[in-house]
Amino acid sequence: KTLLITGGTGFIGQFLVPELLKDNWTVVVFSRQSSDRVARTLGDQVQSIQSFDQWPFPEGPDACINLAGEGIVEKRWSSSRKQILRESRINLTSELVEWLNAQDKTPKVFISGSAVGYYGPQKPDDEITEMYPAGDDFAAELCSEWEQAAQTISDDCRLCLLRTGVVLHPKYGALAKMLPAFKMGVGGPIGSGQQVMPWIHIEDMVRGILFLLDTPDAQGPFNLVAPKAVDNRTFSKALGNAVKRPAFFTVPGFMMKLMLGDASALLLEGQRPISFKLEYSGFTFLYPELEKALESLLPR
Ligand code: NDP
Repeated sequence: KTLLITGGTGFIGQFLVPELLKDNWTVVVFSRQSSDRVARTLGDQVQSIQSFDQWPFPEGPDACINLAGEGIVEKRWSSSRKQILRESRINLTSELVEWLNAQDKTPKVFISGSAVGYYGPQKPDDEITEMYPAGDDFAAELCSEWEQAAQTISDDCRLCLLRTGVVLHPKYGALAKMLPAFKMGVGGPIGSGQQVMPWIHIEDMVRGILFLLDTPDAQGPFNLVAPKAVDNRTFSKALGNAVKRPAFFTVPGFMMKLMLGDASALLLEGQRPISFKLEYSGFTFLYPELEKALESLLPR
């Protein structure tokens, strides 16, 4: 069974690909990087291609996972940056789907990226299920168009969309960025601290993707977030406890706005998506609670 993955060299991909190999998938990574570099990151067992035409088998892939995309919160969202964020997701997904649809055999399942930013800023108490409509800020429009590009996949292919929260790992992503300040004892809530931080442990993220891959009934959008979301203040306190440091320094909202411009909205505003559909489909989280998740990620 063959599987094509984009973004396989990234944070989530690096943890997902070894699990796919264990499950006996023949994994081909679509990457901008040379084959040597991809092999150094992911091992010799994976093949890599830099254009879809280089797909190495006569028939198209049995499954496809689409995670590629330029980093969202790394820099200010200038208009050229917004263009890169869009192109690396929407254009790439459209090209991928066009190629998949052109194969004699379309994949059985296509799992494509999105984010909880799809819903736009929401009131902290509103519990957001997958039925909620898209928001209308930049991140929401980006996710919405990214999903629409994926939805052009042929009808006979099962499509799952990953509306992902903040994925936690001490070396990658948001937690890696927050840790130095917290370890120095100068970490703390951002802005009002009341905004919800929908989070998910990297292991549950990977398990969630594998679950969707293997569950024939799973279809459509899924909120990939732990069942117990917390507000930013609670998150900061738990992180301070995990690294045994006080966490009462507040980063004022206006400073985040100065540093990140529009992108600061992702940190200052939030939404409380619930993992209802994933759990209803039979998925169980290894780390439903933040304290346990942080304990496992930051052993004392
Ligand atoms: P990463 O930032 O680690 O990047 C994934 C991969 O995308 C990279 O390894 C790279 O692959 C490819 N990529 C980066 N920039 C470009 C570009 N300009 N054009 C084409 N490809 C590019 O992502 P994560 O693993 O953290 O996340 C995977 C997906 O899930 C992302 O699309 C992200 O937006 C989404 N997501 C992640 C969250 C998180 O907390 N991590 C939260 C919500 C959503 P290569 O160099 O091999 O080409």
